[in-house]
Amino acid sequence: MNWRKELVSSYTRIEDLLSLLELNINQIDPLMSAKTHFPFRVTQAYASRIKPRDPNDPLLLQVLPTNDELVSPQNFSDDPVEEGPLKKNNSLLQKYHGRALLITTGACAINCRYCFRRAFPYQHIIKSKALESAFEQISQDISIKEVILSGGDPLILDDKELKRIFESVHQIKHVERLRIHSRLPIVLPSRLTKRFIKLMRDTPLQTSLVVHVNHPNELDNPTIESLRRCKESGITLLNQSVLLKNINNDTETLIRLSEILFLAGVLPYYMHMLDRVTGSAHFEVSDAEALSLEAQLRAKLPGYLMPTFVREISKMGSKIPLAQV
Ligand code: SF4
Repeated sequence: MNWRKELVSSYTRIEDLLSLLELNINQIDPLMSAKTHFPFRVTQAYASRIKPRDPNDPLLLQVLPTNDELVSPQNFSDDPVEEGPLKKNNSLLQKYHGRALLITTGACAINCRYCFRRAFPYQHIIKSKALESAFEQISQDISIKEVILSGGDPLILDDKELKRIFESVHQIKHVERLRIHSRLPIVLPSRLTKRFIKLMRDTPLQTSLVVHVNHPNELDNPTIESLRRCKESGITLLNQSVLLKNINNDTETLIRLSEILFLAGVLPYYMHMLDRVTGSAHFEVSDAEALSLEAQLRAKLPGYLMPTFVREISKMGSKIPLAQV
């Protein structure tokens, strides 16, 4: 099956996933009303890695809407890192010096319940118009050396659309680097087509692909193989994770994650503290626990397998290492 067809065959009904996993709705108490605000969505490839009959499976917990989402402490909000004021237009954010972030789409292949952009106003993206004006704005700011494609998930776009974006970025003389942030290589490994890899390899821009894996069980053999093909063709691969309660907040899981990422040709990059978005409080790990995990990892892993534990704080010029928060 090609990746587009696979995407269409994703699970969008909680009942269907529970039936695949032989789980009873009463064992889980899912938030059925999630359909309305941040819908349920999981690819078949990701679902196939969830252990049947285990309501606490760490991959299931990342995607299943539950009534815990209705608990919203005061310090949680719809725009936890205050991106709203950083918008240059509906597709362009400038958070940090020298880098510009293009919001290319609002769509994802999988809806992660902790996503900090789960309430992002994607409906305002008027694709071609906003992108054209974003390129114009980037071309007028010679401090921008790197363009980051984000979303949503930019690899939801087809290769033709990506090629057009790559070409537009390349035409801006002062931009040297192009980075893609995507979870598709993990949740829909067939997306790393030969054509896409060639596109990344052939652009004169320096490219990197930052994937998003939180738990070693997300990396099955087909996923590892497709990442390795990408790496072997010369593409720099990095990973960012989010530290999530009951999912990856233990030393053994995080060590295994770094090791298996390296096996797949990916270097661990950031371990993000949860951004406090409405509906995600049940995933939060305290700073004290995170610092202790970081110390345990540092004692056991070589430096190149050690992700930097960071928190994003609004109006700061970079992500802040957790030890300095
Ligand atoms: S943007 Fe990334 S983290 Fe958010 S729902 Fe999409 S894939 Fe998940």
